[in-house]
Amino acid sequence: TLILGLESSCDETAAALVTDGREILAHRLAGQEAEHTPYGGVVPEIAARAHVEALTPLVEAALADAGKTLADVDAIAATAGPGLIGGVMVGLVTAKALALAADKPLIAVNHLEGHALSPRLASPDLDFPYLLLLVSGGHCQLLLVESVGRYRRLATTIDDAAGEAFDKTAKLLGLGFPGGPAVERAARKGDPKAVPLPRPLVGTPDPHFSFAGLKSAVGRARDAGRWSNEDIAASFQQAVVDCLVDRTKRALDKADGATALVVAGGVAANGAIRAALQTLAAEHGLPFVAPPLWLCTDNAAMIAWAGAERFASGLTDPLDTPARARWPLDPGAAPARGAGV
Ligand code: ATP
Ligand code: MG
Ligand code: FE
Repeated sequence: TLILGLESSCDETAAALVTDGREILAHRLAGQEAEHTPYGGVVPEIAARAHVEALTPLVEAALADAGKTLADVDAIAATAGPGLIGGVMVGLVTAKALALAADKPLIAVNHLEGHALSPRLASPDLDFPYLLLLVSGGHCQLLLVESVGRYRRLATTIDDAAGEAFDKTAKLLGLGFPGGPAVERAARKGDPKAVPLPRPLVGTPDPHFSFAGLKSAVGRARDAGRWSNEDIAASFQQAVVDCLVDRTKRALDKADGATALVVAGGVAANGAIRAALQTLAAEHGLPFVAPPLWLCTDNAAMIAWAGAERFASGLTDPLDTPARARWPLDPGAAPARGAGV
């Protein structure tokens, strides 16, 4: 089975061809850093326009890379949400047009499901159920991944996402955009113990997250003028690591039957976070699984793979499936003290 996957929910436009046998025949990606850098963040209208321009050439390039035509594809998967609605609509409408033209089924993929299943693309031995720490630009959640389409949310953030905290810290320190890799680079040259910073919610019984207070503390540390950017970045990253490890440890106690500890999403590309979770998994006698770095940040291979997993379960979607700005993976989960999904 061959799946074409499209991704356009934020500021990466991407197309990929992936088989149900985990072969990545092609994956193409166009970032939009140059367009958004002057504004210090992603501008939705600019993103949507850039997706329009980039997507069709990327699909053609991916097909050419793989030596395939649309006729060889078994289904077309696209991110249908959550994300910036203009961008999501561009990808979904493109997928619908291709599906209609080539008479192929459409698979509407939840972007978070793409992240959640991406570890299974790179690690064939990873079986359900597993405990997933999903850490990205817009989300910070602990999920028990029970099977394709069954995600039980154990915890979420009550304010900012982890990636958002990295991005805001980078902005406060003038390290540039996107913030995560810039903070990680600066942190390598700093002392993680230099700046006293809070560990919000650490020690509380429910494994929820909070990062807004940490970001404010970073702002105060910068204004104090006592520490280098490197020391602030290293201390911030250590605080995030401590929060993620403490919260994940709590969730492990609740996640009966989990066969592995898994991390996914853009923030999972962070070396310090990966190393700390690896240690935590070992302490619990569990295998630790993290996708390769390029599969952590947004890409279309994970969307094609989620499409392949859904297709194998007989799940396809009608052509009038709507694009959704918000789309929780676990619709039954209660919000954490009024926070969003
Ligand atoms: P979501 O998946 O929640 O819709 P998104 O798609 O915008 O959000 P991703 O592409 O999954 O998010 O991840 C991007 C985030 O990952 C950004 O916040 C970025 O700063 C962060 N990130 C990327 N690399 C690193 C890194 N090495 N260390 C820390 N954070 C990182
Ligand atoms: Mg991005
Ligand atoms: Fe993402």
